[in-house]
Amino acid sequence: MSKYNHELLQPCKNNWQSVLAQAVREPQELLQLLKLTEHPLAQQVCIDKQFPLLVPRTFVQRMRSGNADDPLLRQVLSVADEQLSVQGYTQDPLDEQASNVSPGLIHKYHGRVLLIAASGCAVNCRYCFRRHFPYADNRVGRQQWHSALNYVAQDSSISEVILSGGDPLLLGDEQLSELLEQIAAIAHVKRLRIHSRLPVVIPQRLTAELMQLLSQSRLRTSLVLHINHAQELAPEHLGLLAQYRAAGITLLNQTVLLKGVNDDEQTLCQLSETLFDYGVLPYYLHQLDRVQGAQHFALSAERTQELYRHMQQYLPGYLVPKLVCEQAGQPHKTLIPIGII
Ligand code: SF4
Repeated sequence: MSKYNHELLQPCKNNWQSVLAQAVREPQELLQLLKLTEHPLAQQVCIDKQFPLLVPRTFVQRMRSGNADDPLLRQVLSVADEQLSVQGYTQDPLDEQASNVSPGLIHKYHGRVLLIAASGCAVNCRYCFRRHFPYADNRVGRQQWHSALNYVAQDSSISEVILSGGDPLLLGDEQLSELLEQIAAIAHVKRLRIHSRLPVVIPQRLTAELMQLLSQSRLRTSLVLHINHAQELAPEHLGLLAQYRAAGITLLNQTVLLKGVNDDEQTLCQLSETLFDYGVLPYYLHQLDRVQGAQHFALSAERTQELYRHMQQYLPGYLVPKLVCEQAGQPHKTLIPIGII
């Protein structure tokens, strides 16, 4: 019987920056930590220099030793299937380049813009639709913030700024505070949304300072976590997220439907239930974006429909996330009509 990897990885008491600095970057080390070096999985590992393995030890700690099918491991281990070239899977499946109105700024939807606030991540998720995004051309430092926010200031229809990435919480609190102040100075912006996976993989990122920063802003702030499986939540998330919620920060979650990770009825229902226990509302269930290298995570339309029907049948409505996909050129996310997919 597999078990958590506690004996190998003691809980880390360091700050989030040092946890990140000590992240696992070599597939071989990850397999060793999980006692999988002799498993056939080791033969499937591939090295991708453009989008290498990156996973903090705090996340590895939640994987199950000896289990090659661990749903967290599957999300981070680069395997040979990624090298296949499959028709319909492209480098920029959402055609974001077309909406890249200023370096680091994407204006796709009415009323909101997406600011690429940081160009790296704390974890490299193999299914990521931005795995080929040209971050090098979209570095957003103070200068680029200035022109991006000028754009926002000149369009009074924009009421929400979404910080994305990469992972925006890779910015230190000081930098983030500066950015928030500049956004808050634009009178027509009312809301701030932060999409981040960093607090999921490194709970230490949920510092008291960050909470203070977000709760003191005049902007109504939502933190959208990206959790795909209930096993990603650690016991320490419970208290930390409760404090953020108590400070007035709306906590939402979006999930990507992934073959081999969360494509069964029980897993999806348990995820919604667990999120609610942690004070987080399930918000979107995303169909996989057709990004090159992630095709092995795709589910058929029939299976997607079956899974979603099950959630509708067994969960109260507020725990059933909206099933959506993103279609290039569309002015909003597309709700997937269950009867006809
Ligand atoms: S953290 Fe988000 S942006 Fe970064 S690799 Fe994972 S899914 Fe992509």
